[in-house]
Amino acid sequence: MNAMRAVCPIRPASPLCGECHDLGWLFIDGRGVKKCACRARAILERIPPEYEGLRLEEVTPDLKRHPRQASVWETVRNNPDGCYLICGKSGVGKSAILYALYRRAVLLCRPAVAISLAKLVEDYRRAELARYENECAPALSPVTLETRSERWFVGLDDFYIRRPTRFAGEMIFWLLDTVYSYRHQLVVTSQLDKDRLEQHWAEAGEGYGRAIMRRVQEIEGAVYLAMF
Ligand SMILES: [Zn+2]
Repeated sequence: MNAMRAVCPIRPASPLCGECHDLGWLFIDGRGVKKCACRARAILERIPPEYEGLRLEEVTPDLKRHPRQASVWETVRNNPDGCYLICGKSGVGKSAILYALYRRAVLLCRPAVAISLAKLVEDYRRAELARYENECAPALSPVTLETRSERWFVGLDDFYIRRPTRFAGEMIFWLLDTVYSYRHQLVVTSQLDKDRLEQHWAEAGEGYGRAIMRRVQEIEGAVYLAMF
């Protein structure tokens, strides 16, 4: 009887591309390779419908959601390569900003990921359990970010998990420390403000709250945008 193979829900089957036959690269006669446009298309399809098609240049601030929306969007538009910690109550438009920046990075052919923190931590937990099967790769591994050749966009939506365990604290610190050290672009959203976030991550263990929040706030001139 055949052994059951785990199907990893993280990697969806890739669409069949007539250009590159799903290699993701196009060969240019005598001049090497270039990335196929299907890569960006496939990545953009993972944007939740609520936020799809948000173009940074065209978004009209919704002042009914929050009166600071206009100035927040302006800040981000003026420096779309910047790092941001965006905090505010549910519904003020934090994720919209994150996904607009993510979309821009993808269209510039930069490596990019946008994921909710709860999902990412779940990925890490599964990868830890599946360690010997080599089947489940997390959506974003710190080792992948150890590169200076390209600047990653790392968007962490809803920077909160119900129970911050030591394992989660360790993985998130490792991830953020790598993002920080390699000067990638980090965008974090949260319903908690920066002080409450520090208290939240302190639950993972001694020193984690401060260590994690220092990485978020001290990376490459990070800007704190609060909409409460
Ligand atoms: Zn292709």
